[in-house]
Amino acid sequence: MRYCLNCGREVSDEDYVNGYCIDCFRKIGNPFTKQVSLELKVCSRCGSIFYKGEWHQDSMENIVRRYLLDNQAKYMIASAELISVEPSGEPRESAKGVYVQNWLFGIVLNKKHFVQFNQDVRISVSRTICPRCLARASRKISAVVQVRGVNAQAHRGLVEGVIMSNPGYSEYLVDVEDAPNGFDIRFVDQLPARRLAYELARLLGGHVKETFKSTRYDARKGVWQGIHTFSVRLPDVTEGSIVRYGGELWVVKKLDVRGIQLEAVSSSRRTTVPLSEYWSGHLSIVENYYVKGVYEVVAVDKSMVYLLDRDSGEVKEFLLTNIPFQVKQGDYVKILVIDDKEYVLKYGQ
Ligand SMILES: [Zn+2]
Ligand SMILES: [Zn+2]
Repeated sequence: MRYCLNCGREVSDEDYVNGYCIDCFRKIGNPFTKQVSLELKVCSRCGSIFYKGEWHQDSMENIVRRYLLDNQAKYMIASAELISVEPSGEPRESAKGVYVQNWLFGIVLNKKHFVQFNQDVRISVSRTICPRCLARASRKISAVVQVRGVNAQAHRGLVEGVIMSNPGYSEYLVDVEDAPNGFDIRFVDQLPARRLAYELARLLGGHVKETFKSTRYDARKGVWQGIHTFSVRLPDVTEGSIVRYGGELWVVKKLDVRGIQLEAVSSSRRTTVPLSEYWSGHLSIVENYYVKGVYEVVAVDKSMVYLLDRDSGEVKEFLLTNIPFQVKQGDYVKILVIDDKEYVLKYGQ
């Protein structure tokens, strides 16, 4: 048995911490063996932080949290296990480039008692320029991938994901900028730009057009220097588009690397055509159509279907043979007008 240095109480091993009983330790104990201090390099341009041999685009708070959890053995007594750390105040600059921030440490002592202690963390910050910003500042843009199309912006997240998950692209990336009808991805080198352009074309069903604009003649190398542009033109068809193909009207059901999946407007026939049919002009988008409304099927007899527009009270009659799918009373359908002709489609199509 041991005795508490403060209250003199007899203490079992599991309640004994660094000379005290657990109750006294909570009041006057100190689980820290030294003040926590860390030195960080921060990029003055992009704010990236250098930690564990790498530049991270992460917040100071997250980096400090990782440091505290990774290095707890260096500043805490052996019987303490750090469970959680949260900042409990803003960092204050105590000297030039030196910040002090109070953190709340959640600790388990002797694998049994949960306690919380506050401790100041000292963070020395030295400002520098990270290698990527340095490269970007000193190296000129030599290639641009232009992503263009009516729906280009919708793919921006996916495109940025492709770039960021591959250092073969991200290392050479300068920036991504909005442009009319899409966005531009600028690179310091043309090879990653070319690869990305063709990868995006494959993923999104696009078409690449390359151009080169010379800016100066490099007499030493004997070549023209300039900017390579890879314009990735995306198809304007999307799911739900009405298209004309092979003399028939179709609804686009799906669009992916295998092609364009179509369903005929006036029959439920389905087919898949390669995207090349779009680029060659064999498949074209129908622009002049509109949705007349959503109608409820109020009656079906041997030859006719009666549709009601609940808002206007209008009732329309259609020949059953003009409706390419099964309908029954209570169903909803959509009427589409293409070139002044009305078509009945399944609701949701
Ligand atoms: Zn005690
Ligand atoms: Zn930077």
